[in-house]
Amino acid sequence: MSALQRDAVVAGAGIGGLTAAVALHRRGWRVTVCERAPGPTAVGAGIVLAPNALRAFDAIGFDVTRAVGRAVPAAMGLRRADGRWLSRADTAALAARYGGPPLAVHRSALADALAAALPEGTIRYGVAVDSVADADGSPVVRTSDGDLGGADLVLAADGIHSPLRRRYFPDHPGLRYSGETAWRTVLPAAEDRAEAVTAETWGRGERFGVVPLADGRTYVYATAVVPEGRRPADVRTELLRRYGTWHDPIPALLELIDPAAVLQHDLYDLAAPLPRFHHGRLAWLGDAAHAMTPNLGQGGCQAIEDAVVLAHLLDRARGTDVPAALAAYSAARCARTDAIRVRARRAGRIAVLTHPVAVAVRDLAVRATPARAAHRAMDALFDGFTLPGDMDSVPAGVGTRW
Ligand SMILES: Cc1cc2nc3c(=O)[nH]c(=O)nc-3n(C[C@H](O)[C@H](O)[C@H](O)COP(=O)(O)OP(=O)(O)OC[C@H]3O[C@@H](n4cnc5c(N)ncnc54)[C@H](O)[C@@H]3O)c2cc1C
Repeated sequence: MSALQRDAVVAGAGIGGLTAAVALHRRGWRVTVCERAPGPTAVGAGIVLAPNALRAFDAIGFDVTRAVGRAVPAAMGLRRADGRWLSRADTAALAARYGGPPLAVHRSALADALAAALPEGTIRYGVAVDSVADADGSPVVRTSDGDLGGADLVLAADGIHSPLRRRYFPDHPGLRYSGETAWRTVLPAAEDRAEAVTAETWGRGERFGVVPLADGRTYVYATAVVPEGRRPADVRTELLRRYGTWHDPIPALLELIDPAAVLQHDLYDLAAPLPRFHHGRLAWLGDAAHAMTPNLGQGGCQAIEDAVVLAHLLDRARGTDVPAALAAYSAARCARTDAIRVRARRAGRIAVLTHPVAVAVRDLAVRATPARAAHRAMDALFDGFTLPGDMDSVPAGVGTRW
């Protein structure tokens, strides 16, 4: 395949797959995105994009605020169920420290904006990637719609249950249930609603998050410790029972819930890190590579970082030595994403404490944490996005097969 006519196939049109498609397209690749679902999958929830993800988007010239119309600063404070603040994030301080505050957007607005940055016909909905075969050194993508022909690069952005991860890492232990489930929904704007501010409220083994979005809607989420797979008979009743006596505006927000619009997902992360994120011309990114619990709000942000670093390294290799660029991508991304996965798991353990004494000690400790210590903890996340400067990290002899 010539260096000028480079073809990439991306499995999955989530945040990671779409960002990778945009990043590659902007560097001259011809991209096909295969999405198993019959239409866009990003529905019914918001997402907070931390400064590291916004910086990664900057690196590919994708301006989130302009692309989605408006994005709301979303510095996350912590509260107790009675409304008392445990820590209050200072949006201006975060913006000064990290070049901008975290931004909250509706997931579908973000997905639409990324899709709009791609040429017409790039995304093929209702097409599942079944396998990737080796045809004389080139990967051939087998889909539910037939073979796609040879590609220079295949990206597995097929999410937390990644079929391609299971296939290529058969000895990997897979996912681990965190013990928590999460409900998410986006509530319509209501004129008489008490002012909602971005915050996460911690109870005993339960959390409730409130994130105002542009246009007056509010993204809310809640978590609780429950056995894996358990679903309430009536989700609205369940949420009112758990959080209906918490501080304002939570009870009023719960009244607005449409049970049919509530998403519920049990929370998992990878039981162990993958040994690498590549195999010849095939690379994993996002949840497929490093599924993590959402306790730090970094899963999507790391998928965005992956996509941008990957496209950057492929560009530096001028598309000619794809396997070597993918090995460099693995070297650049494995340690950072796994450190965040482990940190997110630890943060979850603290957030879900249920014993009253442990909860009281936790809350006291959070209140007593000085702002500068909290900032230091955020630095590794928000300041940690870098574009590798060279290809020196590529181990010798890699990348000779597809
Ligand atoms: C409750 C909750 C809150 C969260 N909040 C945040 C937050 O505030 N900030 C943040 O950064 N992250 C957050 N996350 C994490 C974030 O949602 C994920 O990390 C992110 O969506 C992963 O993106 P992805 O593209 O890797 O995977 P996905 O978004 O899961 O996309 C994978 C896509 O691949 C498709 N697919 C699967 N198999 C195939 C196949 N064989 N062929 C073709 N297509 C296939 C799927 O249909 C899907 O569309 C949160 C997660 C949860 C559960």
